[in-house]
Amino acid sequence: MSKDYYNILGVSKGASQDEIKKAFRKKAHQFHPDKKNGDEAKFKEANEAYQVLGNEKKRAQYDQFGSSFEQAQAGGGFSGFDGFRDFSGFSEGQNINMEDLGDIFGGIGDMFGFGGGGRGRTRTRKGADIQVALVIDFNDAVFGAEKEIKLNKTVVCDKCKGNGAEPGSKIEICKTCNGKGQTVRVQRTILGNMQVRAECSDCAGEGKTYSQKCTKCHGMGAHKELVNLKIKIPAGIDNGGVIRLTGQGEAGLKGAPAGDLYLQIQVKKDPRFIREGDNILSDIFISFTQAALGDKIDVDTVDGLVKLKIPEGTQSGTSFMLRGKGVTHIQGRGHFGGAQGKRGDHLVKVKIKTPKGLSRKQKEILKELNV
Ligand SMILES: [Zn+2]
Ligand SMILES: [Zn+2]
Repeated sequence: MSKDYYNILGVSKGASQDEIKKAFRKKAHQFHPDKKNGDEAKFKEANEAYQVLGNEKKRAQYDQFGSSFEQAQAGGGFSGFDGFRDFSGFSEGQNINMEDLGDIFGGIGDMFGFGGGGRGRTRTRKGADIQVALVIDFNDAVFGAEKEIKLNKTVVCDKCKGNGAEPGSKIEICKTCNGKGQTVRVQRTILGNMQVRAECSDCAGEGKTYSQKCTKCHGMGAHKELVNLKIKIPAGIDNGGVIRLTGQGEAGLKGAPAGDLYLQIQVKKDPRFIREGDNILSDIFISFTQAALGDKIDVDTVDGLVKLKIPEGTQSGTSFMLRGKGVTHIQGRGHFGGAQGKRGDHLVKVKIKTPKGLSRKQKEILKELNV
């Protein structure tokens, strides 16, 4: 029975390789047996279609022979879906390209140990990154601060210094992997039997173990601990800013490098101020008389109270600048207008209170003034 591979992938006869690849990915996602509404038969069918259409040569043959493609290929080595079966051989052109599959298989690529195990190895041994949200006060963001946080994370074992061996124990060849650092097992999958190469869990790929594992970390070289960390908050950091502390993430196992710590900064609001880049904005209410005759008033700033001169005849909505009373400029924040360490300005917008509940006498005087 012949199959319409174009129809299976839902592409036209003139589809480009790119379109075919995309269509295949979509189908594979849709029908992947691991998914809730997956369909193994359809998944295999899509794979089969892609094996042919995704390969220029096979596609040309398929186009030419049409329905008799399978017979034409019967003795020619093309084995359709069977090509999947010897993953371990992985000979050029015969098997599916893992890159084509992209993330369809999720972690399977690593499970198989593709890429010589290099990627898998660093991934399993290097400590993970940690992401933590850190809430700070408005003023701490303006001026910078030092904070101490508590973090439950993996740290290098101080007893064995991270190598997992009880001090004084002898080095031995790992019995689990015979010193190879890898174990190979055969796994049955929907694609047939596959050789799965994995890093030896007993020696973490080193091929050697110690006669006695460290009693504190049980040979892992690291253990969880509640640690106090001093954090320097740079002046000028804004809401959503991230502080990266290299090597302060989870410790790696068996002496592998640690991950990084990312602190996501959340700046608390201050009801008095609005931050706009390096500048701070605020409103202040003055009386009609102050606006008309002028005055010297106190204005709340991040530096405390500052005197501001209101000139005679100030209109409502006028802004006054308190130079250098804004936020410290932080480098690399992307908006221009300041050297690092230099402070922005504070802009005070004056709003005039219209008098309410006037006495009869006050009203008469106002009328007399007629301004
Ligand atoms: Zn230890
Ligand atoms: Zn081993």
